[in-house]
Amino acid sequence: MKKPENKIMLIAYADSIGKNLRDLDRILSEKFPGLFGGLHVLPFYPSSGDRGFAVIDYDTVDPSFGTWEDIDHLADQYYMMADFMLNHVSIRSREFRDYMEKGDESAYRDMFIDWDKFWPPGRPNREDMDVLYRRKERGPYLTFTRRDGKQVRLWNTFFEEQIDIDPRSEATRDYYERNLKRIASHVPLIRFDAFAYASKRPGTSCFFVEPDIWDVLEIGMEPLRESGTEILPEIHENYTIQMKMAEKGYWVYDFALPMLLLHGLKSGRTDRLIHWLNICPRKQFTTLDTHDGIGVVDVAGLLSAEEIDLVRTDVDRILSDAKPYIKFPGMIKTSGKKAQLYQLGCTYYSALDCNDDAYLLARIVQFFAPGIPQVYYVGLLAGKNDVEALKRGEELRSINRHTFSEEEIDKALESPMLQRMYEIMRFRNSYPAFGGEISIGHCGKGGALSITWTKEGAQTTLTADFCTKRYSIRYRDTRTGEWRTL
Ligand code: BGC
Repeated sequence: MKKPENKIMLIAYADSIGKNLRDLDRILSEKFPGLFGGLHVLPFYPSSGDRGFAVIDYDTVDPSFGTWEDIDHLADQYYMMADFMLNHVSIRSREFRDYMEKGDESAYRDMFIDWDKFWPPGRPNREDMDVLYRRKERGPYLTFTRRDGKQVRLWNTFFEEQIDIDPRSEATRDYYERNLKRIASHVPLIRFDAFAYASKRPGTSCFFVEPDIWDVLEIGMEPLRESGTEILPEIHENYTIQMKMAEKGYWVYDFALPMLLLHGLKSGRTDRLIHWLNICPRKQFTTLDTHDGIGVVDVAGLLSAEEIDLVRTDVDRILSDAKPYIKFPGMIKTSGKKAQLYQLGCTYYSALDCNDDAYLLARIVQFFAPGIPQVYYVGLLAGKNDVEALKRGEELRSINRHTFSEEEIDKALESPMLQRMYEIMRFRNSYPAFGGEISIGHCGKGGALSITWTKEGAQTTLTADFCTKRYSIRYRDTRTGEWRTL
């Protein structure tokens, strides 16, 4: 099993590049050699919804994707990351079905959160409901009728197939222990999906509630101590939360970078971006795109409301052909505020108006930014918005989840822009300076950016102009000491 290293990580579904894990394995080595050190295969377990995030059980790999041996084979070549949901399980899981079947006699009863028992008598009141951090308009619960005829309202944050679980109950801890240990025997890095919803206390937002949330992370990490498995907690919220987690030593995601780069490239300004690059956590995975939307709440405060609006309005224009098919924009309700825009549903390439120069520059800056870059498979192929998926009635995020046939992949590979991007990815993975010291500077003009990495005899500098989208990458040849242009 390969351990995490400072090389680019691919994010893909088990069946989005080819039909299954074997295809993925083959296509990566045949068509993309040297581009990735790491691989995050999105949930590959049997699941009943949310494209894998409603996990039925972690015992097996969904047979339509492959087997644990296929995962092991990939994990020998790439440092792998797999998902674990601390917050929920599928309503088709053994545990939930047992509870429905046996009611209060079920050994799993306390895993699930009874909405009516959660609140003190007479609550929730209006204020309680107002401060709740919600992902949908209705209250976060679903009603089920158990086999004994009793109706129960159970906490349900996400889709109807996903039922929340209580990290503090013994049954949940056993469940965590059993499943986390199994996953850890195959991969060195586990993503704690949507973990912030697992801290619930009456009268709070029930989202990233302190200090409870730190206990939840501890509970989740406990079974992983022995194997030394690392975790990447996933949370889409204001960047200050990522900074707080980074201060405590956790790996974090950089979900602010995508909007900052869109803003920089659309406005020709680099000051907001430079500010962030100077202060952002160093122990982080950077993103431009993932299987979810482009995070908006993440960047508030680093960009003003007007600057966010500049990006949103332009992306809205780009989305005009998709608009008639978008049923629910990515909204969320946060404490005491009106529903606000949570994520933009758009591929990153489309969000930059399919402009090759702008897209390439965005990726190059990501590769030079502090942290380990992640590249989502749609971004790897500069995929455009999949409006057809929306026309088929699929959910908003499917605009950025196109399944590529091998012909489509081969077609994408003809793009000189992508070939250049891959060349720079290979450089990012192999040039030693990226593990060293970073310095970030302006070069004097509003649209300018320069980033230099230095480690012993190795040094490389990116200089870029966000107005013209021109850039240059220089590096010192570590054998001869001469400066070269990549
Ligand atoms: C994942 C989403 C998923 C949600 C619920 C997230 O944060 O990235 O794709 O819908 O968790 O599991």
